[in-house]
Amino acid sequence: MRIAIIGAGAAGLAAAYDLAGAGQAVTVYEAASRAGGLASGFKEPHWDWSMERFYHHWFQTDKAVLQLIDDIGAKDEVVFPRPYTVIYYEGQFYPFDHMYTNMPAFLVRHFPLVDVIRFGLAGAYLKFSPRWRPLERVTADEWMTRWMGKRVYETLWKPLLIGKFAEYYDQVNMAWMWARIHARTTRLGTFVGGFQAFFDALAEAVRARGASVQFGAAVREIAPRAEGSGVTVHAPGGAIDYDACIVTTSPKLMSRLTPALPASYLGQLGQLKSMGAVVLILALQHQLSEQGYYWHNLPKDAGFPFLAMCEHTNFVSHEHFGGDHLVYCGDYLSPDHEYFKLTQAELLDRFLPALPRFNPKFDRSWIRKTWLFREPYAQPVPPLNHSRSIPDIRTPIAGLYFASMSQVYPWDRGTNYAVEIGRRTARMILQDHA
Ligand SMILES: Cc1cc2nc3c(=O)[nH]c(=O)nc-3n(C[C@H](O)[C@H](O)[C@H](O)COP(=O)(O)OP(=O)(O)OC[C@H]3O[C@@H](n4cnc5c(N)ncnc54)[C@H](O)[C@@H]3O)c2cc1C
Repeated sequence: MRIAIIGAGAAGLAAAYDLAGAGQAVTVYEAASRAGGLASGFKEPHWDWSMERFYHHWFQTDKAVLQLIDDIGAKDEVVFPRPYTVIYYEGQFYPFDHMYTNMPAFLVRHFPLVDVIRFGLAGAYLKFSPRWRPLERVTADEWMTRWMGKRVYETLWKPLLIGKFAEYYDQVNMAWMWARIHARTTRLGTFVGGFQAFFDALAEAVRARGASVQFGAAVREIAPRAEGSGVTVHAPGGAIDYDACIVTTSPKLMSRLTPALPASYLGQLGQLKSMGAVVLILALQHQLSEQGYYWHNLPKDAGFPFLAMCEHTNFVSHEHFGGDHLVYCGDYLSPDHEYFKLTQAELLDRFLPALPRFNPKFDRSWIRKTWLFREPYAQPVPPLNHSRSIPDIRTPIAGLYFASMSQVYPWDRGTNYAVEIGRRTARMILQDHA
């Protein structure tokens, strides 16, 4: 079988690895100049490691991606440091990432005992119950207010929902919140050399199985073949026929690439909502969080101009980055938000006044360089009963498959679930064409 895969991100490369391993003739088309998609990285000449354009790490429960890393023989390249995640409360940062230690300690200090007990019981239910389906019938806003209590919800969880989903915060269903609490661990992992090193190794492993991986190859259109099943892919090299094709782009791009899809499927793609992401990265001469905190969750109503400050070099040593201290200032926003239009210098001016709140000694002269990354499709929004409206991986065009971040539900998007959906789609193709 001849199979085209659009996108060399985690989903596309995972599918390509399995399909090429099953002896199929696979071509991966990637518009960018490198592998990795949303999880790809960049590197300065004096750095040994690359840095992800958007902050990335794995959880110890990310079985699918850890299995794939094992499959390509790179298991020893995964490291799990123990960085600190902190929350901002009444002017101070508190470690808040462990259900049994620092979370209850924080709550006992600041909330009545009844709130601590409710937090413990509701948290334990979400951690241990496998039943997410009933939870998609209620919003996270309602469920958390009811079971965790208004005080705890409004202090700890509501800022997270508002930060991630802005105006949609009270439409997100509780299964999304369940998935985050149920599946995540405190220890966070990365790849020696950065995520880009993993994707380079994966692309090489795909090539070693005989597949062609083409960079700088943006597909313009995908059309059903005039005869029989399969599609014609219009790429820079010309129009080529394939028996099967997997598209791993955003739903919006999928609609644009395949106008021949029936209106019902295009309608399903069109109703999927998502948030964009804007991330400004700063290379500093000094450490910003001197307590060594990595991930700072920031409530918008405390006046921070971004949702998260992640000091990458409090997760991975600055020695890998030629001594640079690297800081992400990131936010999830609707793609029509002004942060998508402001210049890099304008955004820097907006963000800088917040930095002394992490370290009063901070001075503009600490900045060595900045980078700005923006992505309109970064975080799918799951409304009530979302499982009923997810487009099928098998599209109505025979031989055409769609596998995106919007379909990994109830799980929150992530490279782990991209690998899982990529490998699942590869199995589907092999079954469908057996
Ligand atoms: C801010 C942010 C933080 C995140 N944090 C984490 C994290 O900590 N841990 C984690 O595991 N995940 C994280 N994620 C999610 C993770 O990046 C994604 O879930 C995953 O990378 C999606 O992989 P994918 O292959 O489905 O899609 P993508 O990575 O989007 O891959 C799709 C590919 O298709 C290519 N493409 C698009 N159009 C065309 C075309 N016409 N022709 C050819 N190629 C095309 C794109 O260039 C891209 O490379 C984060 C994402 C964001 C935005």
